[in-house]
Amino acid sequence: MKILVAVKRVVDYNVKVRVKSDQSGVDLANVKMAMNPFCEIAVEEAVRLKEAGKASDILVVCIGPAAAQEQLRTALALGADRAMLIEAETGMDSLNVARLLAAVAERESPDLLILGKQAIDSDNNQTGQMLAALLGRPQGTFASAIEVQEGSIEVTREVDGGLSTQRLTLPAVVTTDLRLNEPRYASLPNIMKAKRKPLETLSPDDLGVTLKAHSQLLRVETPAPRQGGIKVGSVDELLDKLRNEAKVLGGES
Ligand code: AMP
Repeated sequence: MKILVAVKRVVDYNVKVRVKSDQSGVDLANVKMAMNPFCEIAVEEAVRLKEAGKASDILVVCIGPAAAQEQLRTALALGADRAMLIEAETGMDSLNVARLLAAVAERESPDLLILGKQAIDSDNNQTGQMLAALLGRPQGTFASAIEVQEGSIEVTREVDGGLSTQRLTLPAVVTTDLRLNEPRYASLPNIMKAKRKPLETLSPDDLGVTLKAHSQLLRVETPAPRQGGIKVGSVDELLDKLRNEAKVLGGES
C-alpha cells in the first residue's frame, strides 16, 4: 500500500505570533518554524502502518517555500521514504493546496492520503475535505483510530457522546485528530539517513496546475487587550456589576 502524507510548514506552536503593523499577516521574520503538529501525527500513523507491514511506500508532500525542505527532511527522519516539495509562496488558500495535492495523487496513485485535521496557523480545517471532493474519494475526518483492511480502512471518530466508526473503500482521505497517536522523536542516525533519501522539487506548472485567486486575506488583527480584573466586596456588588455593567444578567426578579 502506498501512502501520501501532506505536511505543512507552520510557525512553531511555542512561538507567540506578532501581527504585522499593516495588518497584512503574521510577521514570519526570524520566527521558528516547524511541522504542523497534526501533520506529525499523520506521518507517525503512516510510519506505524509501514512498521506493521501494511504499507510499503510513504511519500510526504509539502507546498511551501524552499525552506520547507527542513520539515520534509524531518518527516524523512521520522520514517517516510520519499519527499516532494511543491515550491510556492506561504499563505496559499486551501483550495489551491487541495488542487496541487490532487494533481500529485493523480500522478502517484496512493491508496491512502493522510492529512492533519487542521493547520495551526490558518486554522482552516478544510484541505482534506476539499481534496477528497476533488478526487471523488471517501473521507474520514478527525480520526482517533484507524485500521487498514483488505481494500478498505476503518476510521474511528470522536463524536458527541461516544465514538463512531466507519468503513471507507480505498483509496480514501483521512485527517488526523490529536488522540490518533503520539509522534516519536527522530533519532540522530535517522536524521543522518534522511539526508540521503530522495526529495523532489516541483512547481505548480510541473503538475499542470494553474493557481487561482479563490479568496483574498483582507486583514489580520490582534485580539483586544484584556482588561485587568477587579475584586468585589460582596455578592450584592457582584450581582450589581453583572446586571448593570457587564449586562449579562437580567433585571431584578
Ligand atoms: P488546513 O485545511 O489548512 O487547516 O490544513 C489541514 C491539513 O492540510 C494540514 O494538516 C496538512 O496536512 C494539509 N495542508 C494544508 N496546507 C498545506 C501545505 N501548504 N502543504 C502541505 N499540506 C498542507
